[in-house]
Amino acid sequence: MSLSDPALGQGLTLQWEEVRRALRGEVDQAAFGMWLEPLVCVGQEGERVVLAVPTRFLRDWVDRHYADRLRALWRAVNPGVRAVSVEVGAPAAVGSARPERAGRAAEAGTADGAADAVAARRPSGRVPAAAVASASVLEEISAPLDPRGTFDDFVVGKPNEFAFAAAKRVASSEAPPFNPLFLYGGVGLGKTHLMHAVAWHLRLHRPDRKVIYLSAEKFMYQFIKALREHDTMSFKEMFRTVDVLMVDDVQFISGKDSTQEEFFHTFNTLVDRGRQIIISADRSPSDLSGLEERIRSRLGWGLVADIHPTTFELRLGILQQKAQRLATPVPERVLEFLAQRITSNVRELEGSLNRIVAQAQLVTRDITIDMAQEVLADILRANDRKVTIEEIQRKVAEHYGIKMADMHSARRARIVARPRQVAMYLAKQLTPRSLPEIGRKFGGRDHTTVMHAVRKIEELQSADPALTADLDHLRRSLGG
Ligand code: ADP
Ligand code: MG
Repeated sequence: MSLSDPALGQGLTLQWEEVRRALRGEVDQAAFGMWLEPLVCVGQEGERVVLAVPTRFLRDWVDRHYADRLRALWRAVNPGVRAVSVEVGAPAAVGSARPERAGRAAEAGTADGAADAVAARRPSGRVPAAAVASASVLEEISAPLDPRGTFDDFVVGKPNEFAFAAAKRVASSEAPPFNPLFLYGGVGLGKTHLMHAVAWHLRLHRPDRKVIYLSAEKFMYQFIKALREHDTMSFKEMFRTVDVLMVDDVQFISGKDSTQEEFFHTFNTLVDRGRQIIISADRSPSDLSGLEERIRSRLGWGLVADIHPTTFELRLGILQQKAQRLATPVPERVLEFLAQRITSNVRELEGSLNRIVAQAQLVTRDITIDMAQEVLADILRANDRKVTIEEIQRKVAEHYGIKMADMHSARRARIVARPRQVAMYLAKQLTPRSLPEIGRKFGGRDHTTVMHAVRKIEELQSADPALTADLDHLRRSLGG
């Protein structure tokens, strides 16, 4: 059985671009910027296309003034579409700059949108009053969704295809195919995007399902508030009616005992009831050192899907997709340059593209590699930063729990010798240093010792999955 699911048509994005272009040609530029620019296409449900805007006000305005036009234009592009509806999405995602993410907007109290959209679609009549009451509290704590965080908007490549397929499977299954789905990976690699995509998918295809998305911090805040108000019962009650619970960035739960306990209870109750849970973190369950052992191991029972650092191909694909949606064309050469040089994460990649486009618009300049180099000087410098041998030694020593001094010492006990070899191997791989140079940094060892270490680790790797995992982890934390 294949994990993938072609539910969301790629064609929709292209249709939307077509419609936008036509609209832009019809509407006064200022009006377009004010009312229509913020529109994003979030998906299709049968013959109806769903667009989202950040506020209720905008939704009403667009509905009143542009609904007919949108429908007519869309039908001209695709006669199969009979209706276009406008819903309220995330307030934080206006415009292309997107300085803040949805979660923060929720904390600022501007989260009117997403909760409304869910509430309006809940089928009435069969839901008991108590459930509605707790449901509305819940919807309040659920953060708004980023309208751009759909499956359609997610560019799939080798590093994220597994996580993508797993998220899609969860979104389109009746019963949890694996519980929990644990997504992990470095900052800005698309964890939150995938969670939002699951939520959007369900909202479109299964509006009766109650989906809650919140950050682990928010979860803790709610629980601590309930504790203070001696109302933990209703906290538990609150989650009783949830069909899909998504908790983002659980590495932040580490440490706080009572919250961990509550999280664990909520988790178990929901799993027992066959409700889907999706968790994200910046590291694997077994690396969540602040969590109690039983919780850690429980989190790994479902499917653990990691998102690897991006490759050049994926970065270029993402840039091409994002560039397509901008009004200003960006030369392919410049996209390639960015994909080559900005390797940290997708968020920074997006930010860089937006920055050069904004610059081009502001001072009407051509977008060239020279110009990109100038505008992005700081980001490029940060991305160029090379790992040093010292950093490698420190990380490796930390990882294996040995002293930094052992990297230089003459001790030959396996417990320090193997980590030392790992560090030499990584130094050879991740830095441009020669074997003699590396040897010198390891207490003045001979270059043949380094060569031996490199060979040894290469050899051991194929037979030792634990070592491979160690190396993966170390490489990742060194940003290699
Ligand atoms: P994380 O939660 O892992 O830190 P996010 O999901 O917030 O990362 O992603 C950071 C930004 O990069 C978001 O704007 C997101 O939409 C974008 N992004 C990440 N991965 C992809 C992808 N594969 N395709 C398109 N956009 C992506
Ligand atoms: Mg995130």
